[in-house]
Amino acid sequence: MELWYSENHSRDVKFSVRVDKQLFSAETEFQRIDVMTSEEFGTFLTLDGLMMVAEKDEFIYHEMIVHVPMAVNPGAKKVLVIGGGDGGTVNQLVRYKTIEQIDLVEIDSEVTRVCRKFFPKLTAGLDDSRVSLYFEDGLKFIRSKRNEYDLIIVDSTDPFGPGEGLFTREFYGNCLRALNPDGILVNQHESPYYDEYSKSLVRAHKRIKGVFKVHRLYQAHIPTYPSGHWLFGFASNKFDPVSDLNADKWNALGLETKYYNTELHKGCFALPNYVKELLNNV
Ligand code: SAM
Repeated sequence: MELWYSENHSRDVKFSVRVDKQLFSAETEFQRIDVMTSEEFGTFLTLDGLMMVAEKDEFIYHEMIVHVPMAVNPGAKKVLVIGGGDGGTVNQLVRYKTIEQIDLVEIDSEVTRVCRKFFPKLTAGLDDSRVSLYFEDGLKFIRSKRNEYDLIIVDSTDPFGPGEGLFTREFYGNCLRALNPDGILVNQHESPYYDEYSKSLVRAHKRIKGVFKVHRLYQAHIPTYPSGHWLFGFASNKFDPVSDLNADKWNALGLETKYYNTELHKGCFALPNYVKELLNNV
Protein backbone atom coordinates (compact mmCIF):
# COMPACT_ATOMS: atom_id res chain seq x y z
CA MET A 1 0.00 0.00 0.00
CA GLU A 2 1.47 3.39 -1.01
CA LEU A 3 1.38 6.37 1.34
CA TRP A 4 1.19 9.90 -0.20
CA TYR A 5 1.47 13.37 1.36
CA SER A 6 -0.73 15.88 -0.47
CA GLU A 7 -1.04 19.64 -0.18
CA ASN A 8 -3.62 21.75 -2.02
CA HIS A 9 -1.78 24.51 -3.87
CA SER A 10 -5.16 25.81 -4.98
CA ARG A 11 -8.72 24.50 -4.75
CA ASP A 12 -8.12 22.55 -7.96
CA VAL A 13 -4.41 21.74 -7.78
CA LYS A 14 -2.79 19.19 -5.49
CA PHE A 15 0.92 18.63 -4.89
CA SER A 16 1.72 15.07 -3.79
CA VAL A 17 4.89 13.33 -2.61
CA ARG A 18 5.14 9.58 -2.17
CA VAL A 19 6.05 8.96 1.51
CA ASP A 20 8.38 6.19 2.67
CA LYS A 21 7.71 6.70 6.38
CA GLN A 22 5.90 9.03 8.76
CA LEU A 23 8.42 9.81 11.53
CA PHE A 24 6.46 12.19 13.74
CA SER A 25 3.02 13.73 14.17
CA ALA A 26 1.71 15.97 16.97
CA GLU A 27 -0.64 18.88 17.60
CA THR A 28 0.88 21.77 19.61
CA GLU A 29 -0.99 24.81 20.94
CA PHE A 30 -0.01 26.57 17.68
CA GLN A 31 -0.17 24.03 14.87
CA ARG A 32 0.08 20.43 13.73
CA ILE A 33 3.62 19.20 13.15
CA ASP A 34 4.41 16.26 10.85
CA VAL A 35 7.74 14.82 9.72
CA MET A 36 7.94 12.29 6.88
CA THR A 37 10.63 10.75 4.67
CA SER A 38 10.47 10.51 0.86
CA GLU A 39 12.68 9.29 -2.00
CA GLU A 40 12.38 12.58 -3.90
CA PHE A 41 12.84 15.21 -1.21
CA GLY A 42 14.37 13.30 1.71
CA THR A 43 12.99 14.07 5.17
CA PHE A 44 10.46 16.90 5.21
CA LEU A 45 8.52 18.94 7.75
CA THR A 46 4.94 20.14 7.35
CA LEU A 47 3.00 22.51 9.62
CA ASP A 48 -0.78 22.35 9.48
CA GLY A 49 -0.30 20.11 6.45
CA LEU A 50 1.74 22.70 4.50
CA MET A 51 5.27 21.96 3.27
CA MET A 52 7.80 23.94 5.31
CA VAL A 53 11.24 22.45 4.76
CA ALA A 54 12.56 19.47 2.78
CA GLU A 55 16.08 18.09 3.13
CA LYS A 56 16.82 18.08 -0.61
CA ASP A 57 15.67 21.56 -1.66
CA GLU A 58 15.96 23.63 1.56
CA PHE A 59 19.28 25.08 0.38
CA ILE A 60 17.46 27.19 -2.23
CA TYR A 61 15.21 29.00 0.24
CA HIS A 62 17.77 29.39 3.04
CA GLU A 63 20.60 30.57 0.78
CA MET A 64 18.33 33.13 -0.88
CA ILE A 65 16.82 34.50 2.34
CA VAL A 66 20.32 35.02 3.86
CA HIS A 67 22.92 35.71 1.14
CA VAL A 68 20.93 38.35 -0.75
CA PRO A 69 20.82 40.80 2.22
CA MET A 70 24.32 39.80 3.40
CA ALA A 71 25.79 40.52 -0.04
CA VAL A 72 24.29 44.03 0.13
CA ASN A 73 25.53 44.66 3.68
CA PRO A 74 28.33 42.15 4.47
CA GLY A 75 29.06 44.27 7.55
CA ALA A 76 25.82 43.24 9.29
CA LYS A 77 26.68 42.27 12.88
CA LYS A 78 23.38 41.90 14.74
CA VAL A 79 20.66 39.78 13.12
CA LEU A 80 17.12 38.93 14.20
CA VAL A 81 15.33 35.91 12.73
CA ILE A 82 11.59 35.69 13.35
CA GLY A 83 10.13 32.24 12.71
CA GLY A 84 12.76 29.94 11.26
CA GLY A 85 12.49 27.42 14.08
CA ASP A 86 13.71 24.72 11.69
CA GLY A 87 17.19 26.23 11.97
CA GLY A 88 17.84 26.52 8.21
CA THR A 89 18.17 30.31 8.13
CA VAL A 90 20.45 30.42 11.19
CA ASN A 91 22.54 27.64 9.60
CA GLN A 92 23.40 29.99 6.73
CA LEU A 93 23.90 33.03 8.98
CA VAL A 94 26.49 31.39 11.27
CA ARG A 95 28.78 30.94 8.24
CA TYR A 96 29.51 34.69 8.45
CA LYS A 97 32.29 35.09 11.02
CA THR A 98 31.63 38.86 11.09
CA ILE A 99 28.12 38.39 12.54
CA GLU A 100 28.29 38.89 16.31
CA GLN A 101 24.72 38.18 17.47
CA ILE A 102 21.81 36.15 16.10
CA ASP A 103 18.47 36.27 17.94
CA LEU A 104 15.97 33.62 16.83
CA VAL A 105 12.34 34.16 17.87
CA GLU A 106 10.23 31.05 17.24
CA ILE A 107 6.70 30.87 18.69
CA ASP A 108 6.59 27.08 18.91
CA SER A 109 9.47 25.42 20.80
CA GLU A 110 8.22 22.00 19.65
CA VAL A 111 9.15 22.86 16.04
CA THR A 112 12.76 23.40 17.07
CA ARG A 113 12.81 20.33 19.34
CA VAL A 114 11.44 18.13 16.52
CA CYS A 115 13.78 19.62 13.91
CA ARG A 116 16.81 19.08 16.16
CA LYS A 117 15.81 15.39 16.27
CA PHE A 118 14.99 14.79 12.59
CA PHE A 119 17.11 17.47 10.83
CA PRO A 120 20.44 17.42 12.76
CA LYS A 121 22.43 19.03 9.92
CA LEU A 122 19.87 21.82 9.39
CA THR A 123 19.75 22.69 13.10
CA ALA A 124 23.51 22.45 13.78
CA GLY A 125 23.87 26.24 13.61
CA LEU A 126 21.49 26.70 16.56
CA ASP A 127 24.31 25.60 18.89
CA ASP A 128 26.62 28.41 17.75
CA SER A 129 27.58 30.58 20.76
CA ARG A 130 26.30 33.73 18.97
CA VAL A 131 22.75 32.35 18.73
CA SER A 132 20.06 33.11 21.35
CA LEU A 133 16.72 31.32 21.13
CA TYR A 134 13.48 33.00 22.25
CA PHE A 135 10.37 30.82 22.16
CA GLU A 136 7.74 33.53 21.92
CA ASP A 137 5.55 35.48 19.50
CA GLY A 138 7.72 37.57 17.17
CA LEU A 139 4.96 40.17 16.94
CA LYS A 140 5.32 40.87 20.68
CA PHE A 141 9.11 40.44 20.84
CA ILE A 142 9.74 43.15 18.25
CA ARG A 143 7.62 45.78 20.05
CA SER A 144 10.33 46.53 22.65
CA LYS A 145 13.26 46.75 20.20
CA ARG A 146 14.73 50.10 19.02
CA ASN A 147 17.69 50.66 16.62
CA GLU A 148 19.10 47.28 17.54
CA TYR A 149 19.52 45.14 14.42
CA ASP A 150 21.37 45.44 11.10
CA LEU A 151 19.21 42.72 9.54
CA ILE A 152 15.80 41.23 10.33
CA ILE A 153 14.78 38.05 8.50
CA VAL A 154 11.14 37.01 8.76
CA ASP A 155 11.13 33.30 7.98
CA SER A 156 7.51 32.73 8.92
CA THR A 157 4.67 30.46 7.98
CA ASP A 158 1.93 31.85 5.71
CA PRO A 159 -0.30 34.76 6.82
CA PHE A 160 -2.80 32.72 8.79
CA GLY A 161 -2.66 31.00 12.19
CA PRO A 162 0.36 32.08 14.26
CA GLY A 163 2.02 33.72 11.23
CA GLU A 164 -0.83 36.13 10.50
CA GLY A 165 0.52 38.93 12.72
CA LEU A 166 3.85 38.88 10.88
CA PHE A 167 2.19 40.29 7.76
CA THR A 168 0.64 43.37 9.38
CA ARG A 169 1.55 47.04 9.02
CA GLU A 170 2.02 47.22 12.81
CA PHE A 171 4.64 44.49 12.60
CA TYR A 172 6.49 46.11 9.69
CA GLY A 173 6.47 49.46 11.50
CA ASN A 174 7.97 47.75 14.58
CA CYS A 175 10.61 46.09 12.36
CA LEU A 176 11.64 49.52 11.05
CA ARG A 177 11.99 50.81 14.62
CA ALA A 178 13.97 47.71 15.66
CA LEU A 179 16.41 48.21 12.77
CA ASN A 180 19.26 50.72 12.82
CA PRO A 181 19.12 53.41 10.06
CA ASP A 182 21.12 51.20 7.63
CA GLY A 183 19.00 48.17 8.49
CA ILE A 184 17.54 45.64 6.04
CA LEU A 185 14.32 43.63 6.39
CA VAL A 186 13.94 40.45 4.34
CA ASN A 187 10.83 38.29 4.50
CA GLN A 188 9.39 35.22 2.87
CA HIS A 189 6.89 36.94 0.62
CA GLU A 190 4.63 34.23 -0.74
CA SER A 191 4.07 33.51 -4.45
CA PRO A 192 2.52 35.27 -7.48
CA TYR A 193 0.84 32.40 -9.30
CA TYR A 194 -2.11 30.98 -7.37
CA ASP A 195 -4.80 33.45 -6.25
CA GLU A 196 -4.63 32.85 -2.50
CA TYR A 197 -0.86 33.34 -2.45
CA SER A 198 -0.82 36.29 -4.84
CA LYS A 199 -3.41 38.08 -2.69
CA SER A 200 -1.13 37.64 0.37
CA LEU A 201 1.81 38.85 -1.70
CA VAL A 202 0.06 42.05 -2.82
CA ARG A 203 -1.24 42.77 0.70
CA ALA A 204 2.22 42.37 2.23
CA HIS A 205 3.86 44.50 -0.48
CA LYS A 206 1.34 47.30 0.05
CA ARG A 207 1.96 47.31 3.80
CA ILE A 208 5.76 47.20 3.58
CA LYS A 209 5.81 49.90 0.89
CA GLY A 210 3.91 52.08 3.35
CA VAL A 211 6.75 51.74 5.88
CA PHE A 212 10.09 51.43 4.01
CA LYS A 213 11.51 53.73 1.28
CA VAL A 214 12.88 50.78 -0.72
CA HIS A 215 10.85 47.58 -1.13
CA ARG A 216 11.77 45.17 -3.90
CA LEU A 217 10.80 41.56 -4.44
CA TYR A 218 13.11 38.82 -5.66
CA GLN A 219 12.44 35.27 -6.75
CA ALA A 220 13.72 31.73 -6.46
CA HIS A 221 12.55 28.39 -7.86
CA ILE A 222 11.57 26.10 -4.99
CA PRO A 223 10.18 22.73 -6.17
CA THR A 224 8.24 21.98 -2.97
CA TYR A 225 6.45 25.34 -2.70
CA PRO A 226 3.20 26.29 -4.47
CA SER A 227 3.88 26.81 -8.24
CA GLY A 228 7.63 26.56 -7.49
CA HIS A 229 7.86 30.33 -8.08
CA TRP A 230 8.57 31.80 -4.65
CA LEU A 231 9.24 35.44 -3.75
CA PHE A 232 11.13 37.20 -1.00
CA GLY A 233 10.87 40.85 0.05
CA PHE A 234 13.87 43.17 0.50
CA ALA A 235 13.11 46.40 2.39
CA SER A 236 15.44 49.17 3.56
CA ASN A 237 15.62 52.94 4.02
CA LYS A 238 19.23 53.01 2.81
CA PHE A 239 20.12 50.20 0.42
CA ASP A 240 18.93 49.25 -3.05
CA PRO A 241 19.47 45.46 -3.28
CA VAL A 242 20.87 45.56 -6.83
CA SER A 243 22.79 48.83 -7.15
CA ASP A 244 24.27 48.41 -3.65
CA LEU A 245 25.29 44.77 -4.14
CA ASN A 246 28.82 44.24 -2.85
CA ALA A 247 29.67 41.41 -5.24
CA ASP A 248 33.48 41.52 -4.90
CA LYS A 249 33.33 41.71 -1.11
CA TRP A 250 30.83 38.84 -0.91
CA ASN A 251 32.77 36.67 -3.37
CA ALA A 252 35.96 37.29 -1.39
CA LEU A 253 34.31 35.53 1.59
CA GLY A 254 34.61 32.29 -0.39
CA LEU A 255 31.29 30.88 0.86
CA GLU A 256 30.34 27.66 -0.98
CA THR A 257 26.72 27.79 -2.17
CA LYS A 258 24.52 25.48 -4.28
CA TYR A 259 22.03 28.09 -5.50
CA TYR A 260 22.99 31.70 -4.68
CA ASN A 261 25.67 33.60 -6.60
CA THR A 262 26.18 37.31 -7.19
CA GLU A 263 25.15 37.07 -10.89
CA LEU A 264 21.87 35.43 -9.91
CA HIS A 265 21.51 38.13 -7.23
CA LYS A 266 21.17 40.77 -9.96
CA GLY A 267 18.81 38.60 -12.03
CA CYS A 268 16.44 37.49 -9.29
CA PHE A 269 15.05 41.01 -8.88
CA ALA A 270 13.98 41.05 -12.56
CA LEU A 271 10.33 40.02 -12.23
CA PRO A 272 7.91 38.69 -14.90
CA ASN A 273 5.50 41.29 -16.33
CA TYR A 274 2.44 39.70 -14.72
CA VAL A 275 4.13 40.01 -11.32
CA LYS A 276 5.13 43.62 -11.98
CA GLU A 277 1.52 44.37 -12.90
CA LEU A 278 0.30 42.77 -9.66
CA LEU A 279 2.66 45.04 -7.71
CA ASN A 280 2.08 48.20 -9.79
CA ASN A 281 -1.62 48.04 -9.00
CA VAL A 282 -0.81 48.45 -5.30
N1 SAM B 1 10.44 28.30 5.13
C1 SAM B 1 9.08 28.17 5.61
C2 SAM B 1 8.14 28.92 4.73
O1 SAM B 1 8.58 29.69 3.89
O2 SAM B 1 6.93 28.71 4.90
C3 SAM B 1 8.96 28.63 7.04
C4 SAM B 1 9.87 27.88 7.92
S1 SAM B 1 9.67 27.95 9.62
C5 SAM B 1 9.20 26.31 9.95
C6 SAM B 1 8.24 28.92 9.97
C7 SAM B 1 8.13 29.10 11.46
O3 SAM B 1 7.45 30.32 11.78
C8 SAM B 1 7.32 28.00 12.17
O4 SAM B 1 8.21 27.21 12.95
C9 SAM B 1 6.30 28.75 13.02
O5 SAM B 1 6.10 28.17 14.29
C10 SAM B 1 6.95 30.12 13.11
N2 SAM B 1 6.02 31.21 13.43
C11 SAM B 1 4.78 31.41 12.93
N3 SAM B 1 4.22 32.51 13.48
C12 SAM B 1 5.15 33.02 14.35
C13 SAM B 1 5.17 34.17 15.22
N4 SAM B 1 4.11 34.99 15.31
N5 SAM B 1 6.30 34.39 15.95
C14 SAM B 1 7.37 33.56 15.85
N6 SAM B 1 7.41 32.45 15.06
C15 SAM B 1 6.30 32.20 14.31
